[in-house]
Amino acid sequence: MYNHDMNMKGSNRVNMKNSQIILKPGREKNLLKKHPWVFSGGIQKVNGDPMPGDTVTAVSSKGEFTAYCAFSPQSQIRLRVWSWNEKDKINEGFFDEKIRTAIALRKNLGLFSDPTINNSCRVINSESDGLPGIIADLYNRHIVVQFLTTGAEKWKDVICRVLYKQLDPICFYERSDSDERLLEGLKKRNGLISGNGPSKTVEIVENGIKMLVDIKEGHKTGFYIDQRNNRRLIRDFAAGKDVLNCFSYTGGFSLNAAAGGAKHIVSADASKKVLETAAANVALNGFSPDKFTFVESDVFKLLRQYKEEERYFDLIVLDPPKFVSGTAKLETALRGYKDLNLQALRILKPGGVLFTFSCSGSVTDEMFQKATAWAALDAECSASVIGKMIQGPDHPVLLSFPESSYLKGLVLYKS
Ligand code: SAH
Repeated sequence: MYNHDMNMKGSNRVNMKNSQIILKPGREKNLLKKHPWVFSGGIQKVNGDPMPGDTVTAVSSKGEFTAYCAFSPQSQIRLRVWSWNEKDKINEGFFDEKIRTAIALRKNLGLFSDPTINNSCRVINSESDGLPGIIADLYNRHIVVQFLTTGAEKWKDVICRVLYKQLDPICFYERSDSDERLLEGLKKRNGLISGNGPSKTVEIVENGIKMLVDIKEGHKTGFYIDQRNNRRLIRDFAAGKDVLNCFSYTGGFSLNAAAGGAKHIVSADASKKVLETAAANVALNGFSPDKFTFVESDVFKLLRQYKEEERYFDLIVLDPPKFVSGTAKLETALRGYKDLNLQALRILKPGGVLFTFSCSGSVTDEMFQKATAWAALDAECSASVIGKMIQGPDHPVLLSFPESSYLKGLVLYKS
């Protein structure tokens, strides 16, 4: 039962006149192109005394309505758009409609059609679903939410209520423990919102494979749900192969490689805890444990060690954590990608395949491909792109908001 306090702090403000934020001349242009952000430097004047998270009206320097936005006084991203339609009212009905649209997209993709194949997906992907700062991931009837901005925080109870109505979950768990909250002047929060939280982990099904997800302490909201389609793709390349899955986390690529008929799979990660879950996932799916080896190691060291030992593989996955946020350390990040791919290409057999990823938003597709080209050059091998990968379709990228495209991957063939 959804038993959270229903008194929405901001609801009594809905019909009050919004504060008006007057933009500097020309600074409405991005908003008119449906980009959902206004930076602090674009603001001329604040009329009124809006509180963090309040809905405000962005007005051009000529006095024209531009958008309804959430106000974040501490963030460089001062305004985030809720709606470009002057007739909209930002209230529970508005969120109900937005969330209905977001869920419809996932249903149309077939993500709800057979729970024995998939029973988990991202249901709200922030700006790309018109809901800045709000993430909701569904893990087998458990919803894990993140409220990352003051605007999102303000509407937290309403969002949970609407999600409850539309998806009938067993529990809501909040993982608002990301650093992004600090930029908004919000404290991190991790805890059960309502319902019965799992005592340990939630068992989900992805691509027909069972996976244990630690929604309380796992990375992000518990799982790298954005890699679903890429994990399924690896099956096509796995039959009879010796596989090395680097940065394996709980073994998603490893299990899909096994489902594709891989001969043997080494899963490498720096965290003992995630490898224990990966081993539990192997048992849960009834795969023969002999096919799997789990190595707790720094991948950068391990790849060099394998080279020294002349240990070679047919199929390698590189799915490292984000190397950079923002553009400050972009060069260092690119050197990191180059080094990692170089070490992997050195131990990939000729005729082998490399699945290589970057989830650093500021590293573009072009930059990433260049870093791998640089790696192939230094590895003195010839490699070709035979496939390109992106985040799953339940992590859509709004065309007017390319910033939400962060995951890129290449399938490389080594001649
Ligand atoms: N491919 C995974 C997700 C990878 S997330 C999946 O499909 O679910 C990145 C992983 O890299 C995390 O599990 C983290 O523990 C691990 N990691 C981070 N730095 C590492 C390092 N230097 N060496 C090995 N593992 C590392």
